[in-house]
Amino acid sequence: MKVTHYSQQEWMQYIEDHLPSEVRDEMEDHLYRCEACLASYMIGIDQLALQQILEVEDQSAYMNRILIRTVGKRPAWYRSTLFHYGIAAAATLVLVATGFFHGISQEIGTYGAFKPAPPLEAPASLETPISISDHLVNRTLTWLDTLQNEHKKGGLTP
Ligand SMILES: [Zn+2]
Repeated sequence: MKVTHYSQQEWMQYIEDHLPSEVRDEMEDHLYRCEACLASYMIGIDQLALQQILEVEDQSAYMNRILIRTVGKRPAWYRSTLFHYGIAAAATLVLVATGFFHGISQEIGTYGAFKPAPPLEAPASLETPISISDHLVNRTLTWLDTLQNEHKKGGLTP
């Protein structure tokens, strides 16, 4: 099996469901083993979501609004964005579990002994550059929290 990465363009096609199912399966399989492609995929999801909600500036307000508004009638794009975040979340967890995110392990090794884990809402002005891995994990956890809370309220349950 050849190990090549998929382009941003290909991930956009994947997200927008423009690919034959066998290609999709291959890409999804790859996604669970490749941090670089997971990053491209996440960027693709973000782009898709941004295209749909250009007018909204605050992401959390946007999420709440969407979740409230979509109870009962969910637009298809929202379902599919949510679906893709679900895949990204699963892939992120798999990659974390298998130690793909070397940056995080190193950080934990360096700071973990005397520093608590960084808060999810760390100010963006911090000088420390946030690695793509941290970004993905934080992003995923935020999403999972959001979904869990909404789920408890029964917001997503039909
Ligand atoms: Zn790849």
